[in-house]
Amino acid sequence: MGRIADNLQATKARIDAALRRFGRASPGVSLLAVSKTKSAAEVREAAAAGQRAFGENYVQEGVEKIAELADLKLEWHFIGPLQSNKTRPVAEHFDWVHSIERLKTAERLSAQRPADLPPLQVCIEVNVSGEASKSGCAPAEVLALAQAVAALPRLQLRGLMAIPAPADAESEQRQPLARLRQIYHQLRSAGLELDTLSMGMSQDLEAAVAEGSTMVRIGTAIFGERNQA
Ligand SMILES: *Cc1c(COP(=O)(O)O)cnc(C)c1O
Repeated sequence: MGRIADNLQATKARIDAALRRFGRASPGVSLLAVSKTKSAAEVREAAAAGQRAFGENYVQEGVEKIAELADLKLEWHFIGPLQSNKTRPVAEHFDWVHSIERLKTAERLSAQRPADLPPLQVCIEVNVSGEASKSGCAPAEVLALAQAVAALPRLQLRGLMAIPAPADAESEQRQPLARLRQIYHQLRSAGLELDTLSMGMSQDLEAAVAEGSTMVRIGTAIFGERNQA
């Protein structure tokens, strides 16, 4: 097996071990392979090893890879910062967006989603690290934003996403992730039908599984270190 196939298998083993360690059964955890800065050939290698869902952070890079790999019929997730003037190519080419921070961006994505495609699947990004992070909607504003996004015709609101400030100790990593889980359950209690908690990266995968993640976004542990953003 090649390096990427080996890494994919090792990452799935980490997820399974964490599910057992924290006594989690269903729902399971799906694996999003984050391929930003990596070549189409590397994505092809991961796809040959059975990986179907890929995450990209930069609009143009992502759209180019999607076109180059169209024959593989992969599932593409946009997970990077999204300016409202760059929404059109995302609405036209991606299946998911994890990084909705404001209503204006969501409204544009909904208006620009082509009629022949299924609704764009979206998550709201929440800032659970306060001052240490610049991205994401403030926790106090998530409910109102979620209700407005859920009402848009061409989007399907699936859940929440966060990128917590990095921390070394697992107990420290778990605090912001637990905060995201609490907000997720508040929204569900308010009647929103959500099924996705997008949290966990290469460094905090175990902490994320412990706090109920349903989708981890893993780059480095699958594709190796990134050279340049
Ligand atoms: C780059 C990135 C990841 C993957 O990070 P790794 O530490 O390489 O696993 C996950 N989520 C987002 C939003 C990212 O930008």
